[in-house]
Amino acid sequence: MRKPIIAGNWKMFKLVGDSVAMITALKPLVANASQVEIVIAPPYPSIKTVADRAEGSNIQFAAQDISTEIKHGAHTGEVCGDMLKDVGCTHVIIGHSERRSMYGDTSQVVNRKMRAALNFGLAPIVCVGETLEERDAGREQDVVGNQLDESLSGLTREEMLRSIVAYEPVWAIGTGRTATPAQAQEMHRFIRQWLSARFDNQIADATRILYGGSVKPDNVSDLMSEPDIDGALVGGASLEAESFAKLVNYNR
Ligand code: PEP
Repeated sequence: MRKPIIAGNWKMFKLVGDSVAMITALKPLVANASQVEIVIAPPYPSIKTVADRAEGSNIQFAAQDISTEIKHGAHTGEVCGDMLKDVGCTHVIIGHSERRSMYGDTSQVVNRKMRAALNFGLAPIVCVGETLEERDAGREQDVVGNQLDESLSGLTREEMLRSIVAYEPVWAIGTGRTATPAQAQEMHRFIRQWLSARFDNQIADATRILYGGSVKPDNVSDLMSEPDIDGALVGGASLEAESFAKLVNYNR
């Protein structure tokens, strides 16, 4: 019912030439993957080139961030939603923990970015997740619940139906320390219950909730076998065509 999504976040890696080489290698490796949606988030300078190279393939593209602004104007350094669509994006990652912790993206800012993305018809992938300190204090559900309350504030049902949630425990991102399938499932169930309470069961059932945090070819199948895990948001293992293709073609 919920089509899985395997999304790769290239972060601030790869020059344009490296991006093209990766997409060229990836295309044939995932050409038969019809049971999952494939999304790649290159750095801004590569998006147009790789999206053009991937035209006609089953690979979709995301930006790693979006401006809160929706009108063109004097906003040095910002990139707004229609510019992202113009270069081939269909999705955008919003509120990644690196943006929350290093670039001041509070949940209020994340909420404005969600509205900006939805305004332009981009599918937002909104990231939430607790730090290790918060988990050790037993506060993971409080923290994620608050992030959801604030980040998704004011969204309509129709807007939620166009949105994707990524649960990314901060302690598992880029650390090689993955949440166990049971730990991830517990939080995904919590998020689905939150969606049911804030919206309704139909929205809760329809929303894809991705797991992110050191997903690799050898742990993806176990994670994906959990009932509330609908895909993966992947950093490190998305940088090489072979490993990302293994994630896309995981054993069901
Ligand atoms: C991420 O960047 O969202 C991520 C989960 O990274 P990694 O897979 O490297 O942990």
